[in-house]
Amino acid sequence: MDSLPMSMDRDSLQQLLGEIDTILLDCDGVLWQGAQGTDVVPRAQEVVSRLKSMGKKVFLVTNNSTVTQDDCYRKCNTLGFSVERESIICASFVLAQYLKEINFQKKVYVVGAAAIAQEMQDAGIRCIGVGPERIGGSIYAALAEGKLGLDPDVGAVAVGFDREFSYDKLVRAVTYLANPECLFLATNTDEKYIVTGTPLHLPAAGILVRAIEKASSRQAQVMGKPSPTILYMLQARYGVQPQKTLVIGDTLASDIMFGNECGMWSVLVLTGVATLQDARNLSLANDPLLQKQIPLFYLESVADILTLLDS
Ligand code: PLP
Ligand code: CA
Repeated sequence: MDSLPMSMDRDSLQQLLGEIDTILLDCDGVLWQGAQGTDVVPRAQEVVSRLKSMGKKVFLVTNNSTVTQDDCYRKCNTLGFSVERESIICASFVLAQYLKEINFQKKVYVVGAAAIAQEMQDAGIRCIGVGPERIGGSIYAALAEGKLGLDPDVGAVAVGFDREFSYDKLVRAVTYLANPECLFLATNTDEKYIVTGTPLHLPAAGILVRAIEKASSRQAQVMGKPSPTILYMLQARYGVQPQKTLVIGDTLASDIMFGNECGMWSVLVLTGVATLQDARNLSLANDPLLQKQIPLFYLESVADILTLLDS
């Protein structure tokens, strides 16, 4: 796919809705926005309800590893989204479910937020590492005194967004990963967050994942978008078929790449990270990897689905 994204009109929406039975909605930047993620995109709740009333299976899919499925479910209730708990797919939930499915029995060293530990606990997976975890003083002395906290029962390192990321955590993660049998998992590889209304440039989980990848000379197995892991889970649990599935997202490198690479349909909305110019620039880049991030269609907002359906 190397053409320019098309503005979606009434006919193309009707045609697309005739092809699909499942819709994967990205959360931040599609359904809600803002520093706290509590500013609902106008009419987004109505869009979810309308699509469900048309008989479509609707899943909310977020790469945000700092929330559990339960957190997200409660947020949806508060914000007025009518969704079932099971239809919320969070990166931290997927990671814990993946370990459960492979019957992982050892401990997991987590570089990430409490949400990952919570999902692991709910899945019956033992984990360590969440929190500040600073050694202080000499790292060699700490090792000699057994204070480095290296646990011989750790068999996986799991990385997500971590406000407490430190050199000490990096040392522990890389030391565990020196064992080739130790699994290396990441919730997501988003590199930055743009929070509308603030001047901040926020490095995201992907930067922490890259640091550990570089330092360990290994590559993490990614759970979140654009990796196909979420699709595999939806296929196994709900019989979701990629050719009958539409991904609606605001980020080219995660949502749109996820849709395109997994054989699903993709629509970009302009209420989040990517601008239309970003999408158009991909066509000019002449780079096959970037061209996989070009959406088939774009909409100004997810609410345009309602306007087009009612026009
Ligand atoms: N990770 C973190 C820590 C976030 O705060 C966010 C957005 O709020 C994301 C990832 C991206 O989430 P989504 O996939 O819903 O856009
Ligand atoms: Ca998003």
